[in-house]
Amino acid sequence: MLNLVVLTGAGVSAESGIPTFRGKEGLWKNFKPEELATPEAFRRNPKLVWEWYDWRRQIISKAEPNKAHKLLAQLNAVIITQNVDGLHQRAGAKKVIELHGNIWRVRCTNCGKEYENYEVPLREIPPKCKFCNGLLRPAVVWFGECLPLDALEEAERLAKSCEVFLVVGTSGVVYPAGLLPFVAKQHGAKVVEINPESTPISEIADIVIREKASVGVEKFIRTMLNL
Ligand code: NAD
Ligand code: ZN
Repeated sequence: MLNLVVLTGAGVSAESGIPTFRGKEGLWKNFKPEELATPEAFRRNPKLVWEWYDWRRQIISKAEPNKAHKLLAQLNAVIITQNVDGLHQRAGAKKVIELHGNIWRVRCTNCGKEYENYEVPLREIPPKCKFCNGLLRPAVVWFGECLPLDALEEAERLAKSCEVFLVVGTSGVVYPAGLLPFVAKQHGAKVVEINPESTPISEIADIVIREKASVGVEKFIRTMLNL
């Protein structure tokens, strides 16, 4: 069996109705995600940042995994994802590496405890810690923050050792996740990109499938894996 590793971004969830960051549908009240998903924005105005997360959590809570999530889950390959929506797991994927955290987890800025929170919509914005009443933040990785080291190291190890690195629905401009296709390529993997738009990854991809995720993943499985 082919040693396949998958990297996904917001585009794989677009057909589930979850807006991507890049593209006009990613805008909320005229703010760009880059102006909200940062530690500075949270320090300045935690209420505003939490209102945006509450809006995103409401959308994600109503969303269902789409055909791309389901087909990828059936491949039994490790899925490295930049997404925070948990849809790969809900589609049945067994091994998912979340590089940017999960929108259903919160972390206390006071006592540091991290736990699940599925309240939709949030009763109180910004929400407070159930242990110490401190200010909570989403347990996601913001622009300018470090990725969880164990997840990043495992992702790099997989990129270096796979035969085929399949990239689905990422703009490739958020680092270090966006570098993984280049690491895979350098270590001899064939890189396959599925994205309706061209990205920096397109330039090094061995095969580019210019389709949305559901169509592209189906094509990949039929033509490249002969399944
Ligand atoms: P991005 O918004 O930068 O890029 C999305 C990419 O998906 C674009 O290249 C676009 O051409 C492509 N795309 C759009 N519709 C598609 C479709 N139907 N099928 C396939 N591809 C499609 O997203 P990114 O590269 O993941 O990076 C942005 C950051 O945004 C990540 O850190 C991620 O954590 C976060 N994010 C997550 C979610 C989510 O969890 N669903 C949603 C938005 C943003
Ligand atoms: Zn606390």
